[in-house]
Amino acid sequence: MLEKIVIANRGEIALRVLRACRELDIKTVAVHSTADAELKHVLLADESVCIGPAPSVESYLNIPAIISAAEVTDAVGIHPGYGFLSENADFAERVESSGFTFIGPRPDTIRLMGDKVSAIEAMRKSGVPCVPGSDGPLGEDGDENIRIAKEIGYPVIIKAAGGGGGRGMRVVRSEAALLNAISLTKSEALAAFNNDMVYMEKFLENPRHIEFQVLADTHGNAIHLGERDCSMQRRHQKVVEEAPAPGIDAETRARMGERCAEACRKIGYRGAGTFEFLYENGEFYFIEMNTRLQVEHPVTEMITGVDLVKQQILVASGEPLSYKQEDIKIKGHAMECRINAEDAKTFMPSPGRITQVHVPGGLGVRVDTHIYNGYMVPPYYDSMIGKLIAFGDSRSIAIARMRNALDEMVIEGIKTNIKLHQDIFRDAGFISGGTNIHYLEKKLGL
Ligand code: ADP
Repeated sequence: MLEKIVIANRGEIALRVLRACRELDIKTVAVHSTADAELKHVLLADESVCIGPAPSVESYLNIPAIISAAEVTDAVGIHPGYGFLSENADFAERVESSGFTFIGPRPDTIRLMGDKVSAIEAMRKSGVPCVPGSDGPLGEDGDENIRIAKEIGYPVIIKAAGGGGGRGMRVVRSEAALLNAISLTKSEALAAFNNDMVYMEKFLENPRHIEFQVLADTHGNAIHLGERDCSMQRRHQKVVEEAPAPGIDAETRARMGERCAEACRKIGYRGAGTFEFLYENGEFYFIEMNTRLQVEHPVTEMITGVDLVKQQILVASGEPLSYKQEDIKIKGHAMECRINAEDAKTFMPSPGRITQVHVPGGLGVRVDTHIYNGYMVPPYYDSMIGKLIAFGDSRSIAIARMRNALDEMVIEGIKTNIKLHQDIFRDAGFISGGTNIHYLEKKLGL
């Protein structure tokens, strides 16, 4: 077992990893920026190391500083959390070549899946259904690109191979706009991702976002833990997630989940990962794989009882998975609200000092957050300050518990999006389930 782990992240996920380490009797090292000395997990960790000033590029993205922190504290493993360096293959490589264990997939797997073109190719080969699209990157030949688009059928979407975070995409509805859109996306992609490779996909008009959670070990075992529905999005950012996805039956879950697990075996996947799909008219279309733990992992934990972070650490320690596929039983329903320090209407970030916090509780309520009375939300990082998770035997009980929890939750001193969640959990369309990825923006009048 890894005896000491560096938690190379901040906020709620750093605290989540710390809790898993404690359960496993693993010592923890918190690495933090100068702005984050008062973070809850920093105060709770066995050791802490300041790795640089507030801006992420100088701290949480500062690879040499993180490696040195591992060296000076005699740590053996590094957990990257999500965001920051979690899907950076060069970081994973540096961690391993410096003699530490990277708690995540092998660097070459991160690289393969991080490039959307190579990821789609690997998934096609593994039998995972993909969006109809160009076979690989688009070339310079305009006539050929026009032909590809005609064959796929409009509307199409031009996407950057190196894109992420909902950026580097452009929808094209007619042939007249195609070539210009391709060259625009290419130049934007070059500027943003340092890679001008783009590809083309059929644009699905009203899909849902459904993703499958997988776990794989280094002994050739891979399992799936069912799916999550993350269709409640604003600007491609998830706002509410739930598991299981409304309307997905056990047979479909088993069939799609097994395809994902099989793809993991084929590419030699290691650790926790997520296959993201768009789902329309009963069909799944792979869009990308996240080679890390996700923000929304708790909803899967609630309905399966599996501690995903502990499994990540065990797998990284060389242990086989603690579960076989037949051990995974989906029970009940879970919902998650991402609580952000932002205005509920304008979505403007609202950093500042939290003067009062009252967290909700009761049966089936879980709160994953690092905030406390007097905590200062710094302006430098993502605005998410916590997650509210509600679980129940049925979807309607989970919704009722979430509503109660939202009404009980008090955060003063800064603005939060709690009011937005209160509206969503009283929205008839959302309550009936199965809404698509445009639903929230339409509701908000965007
Ligand atoms: P990113 O890595 O930037 O998150 P994704 O490929 O996961 O990019 O796509 C992000 C979002 O963009 C999807 O959740 C969906 O809302 C939209 N999108 C991507 N591809 C398509 C498509 N082919 N048709 C319709 N919407 C799409």
